[in-house]
Amino acid sequence: MIVVMQEGAPEAQVQAVINRLVGMGFTVHRSTGVSHTVLGGVGPVDDSFDPADFEVMDGVKECHRIVSPYKLANRHFKPGGTILKIRGVEIGGNKVVTMAGPCSVETGEQIECAAQIVANAGAQVIRGGAFKPRSSPYSFQGLGEEGLKIMRRAADHHGLLVVTEVMDQTQIPLLLDYADILQVGARNMQNFNLLRELGRIRKPILLKRGISATIEELLLSAEYILSGGNYEIILCERGIRTFETQTRNTFDVSAFPVLKRLTHLPVIGDPSHGTGKRDYVVPMARAAVAAGADGLIVEVHHDPDHAISDGAQTLRPEQFTEMMRQVRAIARAVGRTA
Ligand code: PEP
Ligand code: MN
Repeated sequence: MIVVMQEGAPEAQVQAVINRLVGMGFTVHRSTGVSHTVLGGVGPVDDSFDPADFEVMDGVKECHRIVSPYKLANRHFKPGGTILKIRGVEIGGNKVVTMAGPCSVETGEQIECAAQIVANAGAQVIRGGAFKPRSSPYSFQGLGEEGLKIMRRAADHHGLLVVTEVMDQTQIPLLLDYADILQVGARNMQNFNLLRELGRIRKPILLKRGISATIEELLLSAEYILSGGNYEIILCERGIRTFETQTRNTFDVSAFPVLKRLTHLPVIGDPSHGTGKRDYVVPMARAAVAAGADGLIVEVHHDPDHAISDGAQTLRPEQFTEMMRQVRAIARAVGRTA
């Protein structure tokens, strides 16, 4: 259930509501918006409880039940939207943020080159996997800690943030030392043990939609992390599996307006995995931003024809620079910046 406090309600009144919720068996999550404090009570649904009992309490503006299965991810919990602030970069605000880099970390020179391309084009975050979920056990599995060191060094050199994938909970302590954002890949979206562990840490999470996951399932996965108290989540539409074979996945552009309505969490688009072919990446990047995406994550490599993984969907440097130019124009058209 959601209790919205009146504007400027004193702390004592907020505490009185929290105490009552706790007394009823709810776990209380607090969201402090620009003007209102919102309290989300998560726990056993009690049909006999009457929201009016809370609405008569001092300092309470309104109270209602959340009927959707995801409570903390629900937009009602934070109507104004969540803006993540990560070392000076805001995600979910007016500016469209771009994360870019190769699929995999291959060498120090490759990542240094990628960081330069990414920073020069005006993007804020470098991506690159050091732990790679591959469909085949015989494919390259990533450089591990060496790859993380390479990422951190290049990112610091060019003033970028690092996003990189976490594949299981044993990797979390290591990743905390090197990354600014931990990516949960599509294949792990419903790895509930991993999600629970990520709820315990205080580091932003990029949660990618599973290849056959509904939007509601994506939000329930986010709920696992939120319910542990980690509120810094970015959702990512990265294409879903359909009967279409012309593209690797079908990039669900309608997910952006749907998610922006259902949740307060920032949502970004991955048109690289979303299409699987580099010529379709820039049009879909434009479409994502036009549809309301808060950012993009794309694959770019100085020599994609020789990339170890995902070369076919990886932009050439000049395509990436052109994408950034076009995205800035689209962002302006929809009242944003990029
Ligand atoms: C990736 O980002 O390289 C990746 C493996 O993405 P996804 O989990 O969306 O397939
Ligand atoms: Mn990839």
